[in-house]
Amino acid sequence: MKAFDINSPEEELFDPLFKEKNLRVFIKRDDMIHPFISGNKWRKLKYNLIDAKAANKNHIVTFGGCWSNHLLATACAAARFGFKSTAFVRGEDINTDSLLFCRLFGMKLIFVDRTAYRDKPALFAAHFSDDPEAIFIDEGGAGENAVKGCAEIITELKTPFDHIFCAAGTGATSAGLIKGIGMNQVNMTCHVIPVLKGADFLKENIKQYFLTEPDYRFHDSYHFGGYAKTTPALFEFINHFSASTGILLDPIYTGKMMYAVYDLIRQDYFDPGATIVALHTGGLFGLLGMKEQISASIVA
Ligand SMILES: *Cc1c(COP(=O)(O)O)cnc(C)c1O
Repeated sequence: MKAFDINSPEEELFDPLFKEKNLRVFIKRDDMIHPFISGNKWRKLKYNLIDAKAANKNHIVTFGGCWSNHLLATACAAARFGFKSTAFVRGEDINTDSLLFCRLFGMKLIFVDRTAYRDKPALFAAHFSDDPEAIFIDEGGAGENAVKGCAEIITELKTPFDHIFCAAGTGATSAGLIKGIGMNQVNMTCHVIPVLKGADFLKENIKQYFLTEPDYRFHDSYHFGGYAKTTPALFEFINHFSASTGILLDPIYTGKMMYAVYDLIRQDYFDPGATIVALHTGGLFGLLGMKEQISASIVA
């Protein structure tokens, strides 16, 4: 399988605040990798798909919610690289914009209730134990292959930075960045921004990929109430950012991460002269799941 060439430039952001604090801030545009196979979801899928091809597994079976960026990325990547795809979708049968696109990319959807959804290996076994071509890819694509793919983000950086920021759901992307920093022996601090409340489990998730205690900073006060929870201040920040940079952020992941970058800069968290890169993990399709709220938050 020949994976596609990555286009993810590091673009500098300009804001009077950065000048005042004598900092340079960049954004690594993983959202530009592909409109649907976006951001960290491609990073996490890449080695899973390469391994699947090598093992003659031509049917990707995976899991997610009805607005999952992972499902959309998997559906499109499966089509692009010649796989069949099936997804177990948590909850009742509904037709979101994301799932519509999954279907257009040929993904078969099986809706399962929340109880059944919990035991993913059982679902896989019940439906696909007699399909020798089927391969199980976990929700969000998490696992060693995901971490390996995300470590490449660091290898790819054209210039060194003092700090890198990343939004975290399962922590696999963050683990990849920390791995990449170690592998490339660069002097960079990884800052993890959990987007959900009570995210201490994330530390365990990250740790499982390391033999010794991984080194990173954990900022758990930017979840805005929990997963997919928002506040007017978050929308105000995101809208202003989009209108002044031409770069969209979503309120679930990258909006919270970027808010943290600005907030820490305001608090003089960084030494003057420092360079910071924020990882845009993509997932912009998720904006459509919050149309009403977003639309109400835009001040004319
Ligand atoms: C899925 C997702 C994340 C979370 O990645 P993890 O590896 O699960 O921590 C972050 N940002 C975006 C845009 C995502 O879609």
